[in-house]
Amino acid sequence: MLVKRVPDIYDKLSLLTNGAKFDVSCSPSFDRKNFSKKESFSKFGIHNIWTSNGRCIPLLKVLLTNFCINDCAYCLNRKRNDIPRTIILPDELSRIVYEFYRKKQIEGVFLSSGIIGNSRKTMDMMITTAKFLRTRYQFKGYIHLKIVPDSDEASIEEAVKLADRVSINLELPTEESLSLIAPEKNLHSILKTVEKINSIIENKGKTIQTQTTQLIVGATSDTDFQVLKLTENLYKNNSKLKRVYYSAYMPVNDDPRLPQLSKPPLIREHRLYQADWLIRYYGFQVEEIVSEEKPLLDEKIDPKLDWALRNICLFPVEIQQAPPETLLRVPGIGLTSVKRILKIRKTSTLTLKGLKNLGVVIRRAMHFITIDGKYYGNKNQMKELSTSSIEKNLQQYSLDI
Ligand code: SF4
Repeated sequence: MLVKRVPDIYDKLSLLTNGAKFDVSCSPSFDRKNFSKKESFSKFGIHNIWTSNGRCIPLLKVLLTNFCINDCAYCLNRKRNDIPRTIILPDELSRIVYEFYRKKQIEGVFLSSGIIGNSRKTMDMMITTAKFLRTRYQFKGYIHLKIVPDSDEASIEEAVKLADRVSINLELPTEESLSLIAPEKNLHSILKTVEKINSIIENKGKTIQTQTTQLIVGATSDTDFQVLKLTENLYKNNSKLKRVYYSAYMPVNDDPRLPQLSKPPLIREHRLYQADWLIRYYGFQVEEIVSEEKPLLDEKIDPKLDWALRNICLFPVEIQQAPPETLLRVPGIGLTSVKRILKIRKTSTLTLKGLKNLGVVIRRAMHFITIDGKYYGNKNQMKELSTSSIEKNLQQYSLDI
């Protein structure tokens, strides 16, 4: 591996934050609409991350090193790439993180790493960095630690002790895809690690700690059905898995194993987030959204509307009487609106205007409901319910870190 020297600490930091930006397991946190290989990056990798309760947290996303013994086709830091390589040792990295924190430039750190030497050595260095932060600097900020593949149980336990959140990336939903483009990784072993992390967090008893993971979308021929089936099982079997992040594949390397894309599949990524939401909070089964026969999400239409149009015989539903699980399936009615509808309808008769005030997207919902027996929709217009908000929403997922 060609190693170019990187002497200055801020040059090092710039390289190591640049190397960390493609990992979205703490959030999709850079402007991927304007993505380019030469993109200038937020100064020293400080990202504003939005939490699910609307709070903005500045977070330093950084690698301990961009050296790596692995050769994942999609990764900027893979061993075959001729890029400047560097490392910031735990002593120095913890000091820098603390300096940013002390000056109130960050509230936390997302620490990941290329694999240097082996998994044990890499985890040791990340853990030492976190330990220095917590003990030497009494750092009270947020720490998200990456667990590298093939980490042993002791390292995971130590990481969970120090971090607010940990993550290990699955990257791809099938063993075949992983062995094609990330040959050193093994899906079975990563899934076992996800389970191990889960049981370690569960055994801690009452704790707010959680884990996340990331799946890359569009780098292989895997379907949305395969992605969502894996996701559904992960949520079912791992109570401490807060969420799966989907990352539209960003071409950074020329590699014959990878597809030639003119732009990253951001709409597909967005649809997967919507489908994921339906599975986690709206009571949908994967097979209601996609199936082996229809394995891809429709990019032109959101998955809930797609489901409603395919099941039009179930509509319209009477807003004054439908049970909550039925209301949740109406396009244009979300979790909060359902709660409000249930409360208001106990004492009053709902109206079109009243529903709008409760947060219902009327132009969408009116085709699928009756209000006190009256239908305001137009079944012929249903298919024209456009997704004009896609572009606007692309960067607006609920981003809890
Ligand atoms: S293990 Fe793979 S994805 Fe991670 S840094 Fe190394 S080459 Fe990149």
